Amino acid sequence: MANKKIIITIDGWSSCGKSTLAKQLARELGYVYIDSGAMYRAITLYFLRNHTNWNNHDDVIDALQHIKLEFQANHKNGSSEMYLNGENVEYVIRDLVVAEKVSEIAAIKEVREFAVKQQQAMGAGKGIVMDGRDIGTVVFPNAELKLFMTADNEVRVKRRYHELYEKNPNVTMDEVRQNLEHRDYIDSHREVSPLRKAEDAIVLDNTTLTPKEQLALALSWVSEKPGEL
Ligand code: C5P
Repeated sequence: MANKKIIITIDGWSSCGKSTLAKQLARELGYVYIDSGAMYRAITLYFLRNHTNWNNHDDVIDALQHIKLEFQANHKNGSSEMYLNGENVEYVIRDLVVAEKVSEIAAIKEVREFAVKQQQAMGAGKGIVMDGRDIGTVVFPNAELKLFMTADNEVRVKRRYHELYEKNPNVTMDEVRQNLEHRDYIDSHREVSPLRKAEDAIVLDNTTLTPKEQLALALSWVSEKPGEL
């Protein structure tokens, strides 16, 4: 019998390894991986570059009309990368300058509507792993497997610090800690689609798990789904 493809959602706090697990699962299952955070980061980059006044409703609507988001495969390493109006922005959207503003911009209703509509279209054929903050609650409330990831705060700060340090050795651990706390606070307190665990999501705390162990655990949950694996 052919495998029945499912939708897997991974939500959780900033920097707790959502994208690592999502990429592992997609590779293992032959699914598409979508990094929904990259879309909010690309929109933020556009607003910053174009001096969009995101406190003004009309300016936001106008700016969104000029934004085209696409994921394209990088044939060298097989990963999927974010394109903003035809430009590869995968690297620049990871900058702290974008990270400092992204949660404020992702809290805007029109911005969320713009992104969610595209995310839902990407999941129409199933066989997708999407990570973010509202994927199991709002984007795919009927997803077959929902995970909610968490990890010890200091472990998260260290992981993100090491990632950012490779690009910018001037970054400090305190800056990273403040940014994570700031984003988590806004993401979980905003009015529209706040970060919360879906009632039917499985909690995965990966503080002491290796990437290999977390993948094995997630695959065991996938295998419990009818028709999969
Ligand atoms: O996942 P990542 O940390 O790259 O996401 C960047 C930001 O985008 C988050 O801090 C959050 O403000 C926003 N985001 C969101 N909803 C999603 C994914 C990301 O609001 N589904």
